[in-house]
Amino acid sequence: MNRVYNFSAGPSMLPVPVLQKAQADLLDYHGSGMSVMEMSHRSKWFDEIIQNTEAGIRKVLNVPDNYKIGFFQGGATQQFAMVPLNFMTTGTADYLVTGNFSKKAAEEAAKFGTARIAASSKDKNFTYIPDVKAIEYDPNASYIHICQNNTIFGTTYKDVPQVDGIPLVADMSSMIFSEPTDVSKYGCIYFGVQKNVAPAGMAIAIIRDDLLGKSAKDIPAEKIPTMMNYTTLLDKDSMYNTPPCWCIYMTGLVMDYLQNEVGGLEEMAKINHAKAKVLYDYLDGQDFYNNPVQPEYRSMMNVTFTSPNPDMDKKFCAAATEAGFVNLKGHRLVGGMRASIYNAMPAQGVNDLVDFMEKFRKENA
Ligand SMILES: *Cc1c(COP(=O)(O)O)cnc(C)c1O
Repeated sequence: MNRVYNFSAGPSMLPVPVLQKAQADLLDYHGSGMSVMEMSHRSKWFDEIIQNTEAGIRKVLNVPDNYKIGFFQGGATQQFAMVPLNFMTTGTADYLVTGNFSKKAAEEAAKFGTARIAASSKDKNFTYIPDVKAIEYDPNASYIHICQNNTIFGTTYKDVPQVDGIPLVADMSSMIFSEPTDVSKYGCIYFGVQKNVAPAGMAIAIIRDDLLGKSAKDIPAEKIPTMMNYTTLLDKDSMYNTPPCWCIYMTGLVMDYLQNEVGGLEEMAKINHAKAKVLYDYLDGQDFYNNPVQPEYRSMMNVTFTSPNPDMDKKFCAAATEAGFVNLKGHRLVGGMRASIYNAMPAQGVNDLVDFMEKFRKENA
């Protein structure tokens, strides 16, 4: 067996001890005589799994008691519609457009009301984050929506908008659990799990309970499709229908891993900062590769860079794959390369990548 260093933006690497635990449980989960993939979601085993997973998220992320946690299908993209359907009570919301996913979220919200673009960083091809304190927010906005880490462009927020009386909604798909988060700053946090948590197939939302039980202006709550109504789904503990059982189980294993093997999110953040520093320090110390992002907004999770030209980028990706560093090709919107260095990417993977980059530079500069 030969595991590669997988720099994919998602689905992405999972911690080896988690994969091994899943493998050990596979044929006979805790004496049930079956795998988690095969068991009823109404069984006592699964009941324990979903409760432990939720408790694990609460513990790891320090989620206050007045927040509910839900497990949903449809990915983060479905949350782009669920957020306005459930929360756009005034018929308008403020969207900060800092990349492709926040743009998509705003476009989806515009189907249900006014998605006002309160700020955008499109003028500089999304290489920075607008100053959140300088933005004029609409006092009538139902919520302010941000994408906290821009997976494609490799940028992240340092400060998040905080406006009295207007809840902040954040897509944290590509940075959740990478560092401690003060959940109390948000009305709703949501994320697809396939970047930093679990296999693909699920989104998780963490919602302050006073936001529940409502709906978009002009859309009565009973007209929201059942599977898109947070309140209905949360009232049934995410088991209105068959939930994504395997993803919930894997999320639980990752929470155990973060608590017991990493030692919590403070520790995880130290490891992630160190990994990102190795890569950015290298990029800053030479001029063959270029990272276009304004340094204060650099993402700790997704590091974008280009070589001198697109043909060289291609050559780089091919040589990297050959050497066991896979999925480094940048998103088609930006080109170049992108190293996604999520929680499960070992420090050694980043160190070895930098050695490879330097070797390639020497051979091709
Ligand atoms: C990947 C990603 C999405 C899309 O997630 P799906 O689960 O594929 O719908 C949305 N937002 C961000 C920030 C992402 O990184």
